[in-house]
Amino acid sequence: MALITLRSVTKTYPAARKGNLAVNALEDISLEIEPGEIFGIIGYSGAGKSTLVRLINGLETCTSGDITVDGRSVSGVPERKLKTLRQDIGMIFQQFNLFSSKTVRNNIAYPLRVAGRSRAQIAERTNELLEFTGLADKADSYPEQLSGGQKQRVGIARALAASPKILLADEATSALDPETTHEVLALLRRVNQELGITIVVITHEMEVIRDLATRVAVMDRGRIVEQGEVFDVFSNP
Ligand code: ADP
Ligand code: ADP
Repeated sequence: MALITLRSVTKTYPAARKGNLAVNALEDISLEIEPGEIFGIIGYSGAGKSTLVRLINGLETCTSGDITVDGRSVSGVPERKLKTLRQDIGMIFQQFNLFSSKTVRNNIAYPLRVAGRSRAQIAERTNELLEFTGLADKADSYPEQLSGGQKQRVGIARALAASPKILLADEATSALDPETTHEVLALLRRVNQELGITIVVITHEMEVIRDLATRVAVMDRGRIVEQGEVFDVFSNP
């Protein structure tokens, strides 16, 4: 069974003011993302990628259609039930979204504190993630003391802290230079291969998809215009 399923999902934003048109951000989107795969979603700005992300993690509800994550419906569930959903999904962002007043260690520990884990559990899990992401010697540094690539590694460690099944990467390398992008993509590949975590990569960069993903959906103005194996979709001359 697919881990993430979207069936004929539509999202319309109401007109911001009288006389404006409503925006059809997503129209008839159907997708199945399998456990263990790296699935890419690519499209230009305005294609609907961020809207799709917000629907999958329950930050917004779809106008019509149906979304399930790990067998549970996401569409129209009450806020308190979304907690379980979000524990299944870790997120990383273009601007990293680290807490600037917290050390690397405390950034990574944050989701575990929120989840009410014990001190011992938090210390153990945080150390494990510092090792896994190669940040052990930066544990007591603050984000402003880190390079972009190191910041994103902290972002990845924090996203993994609560042991999610899915990692959603929203333009996660768009603020990084090519070399650092490679380093972060290599870490994401390890997250997938060594930890078995399903990754959804949202990007406007074809190179990122080519490098990392196995399947891809190409979005344009709210629709999926092509979908399949990366090799097939991008091998057109
Ligand atoms: P992308 O992430 O691919 O750039 P978005 O999902 O941000 O695309 O946007 C898709 C469309 O929906 C755009 O036309 C955008 O202006 C519109 N949109 C996004 N968020 C909102 C919102 N909160 N209210 C109204 N329109 C929105
Ligand atoms: P919740 O309401 O359950 O705290 P959020 O919507 O705040 O969920 O968070 C969604 C995802 O973003 C989760 O994976 C969470 O770990 C992560 N997250 C929460 N707060 C932040 C933050 N300030 N910066 C970056 N990521 C965050």
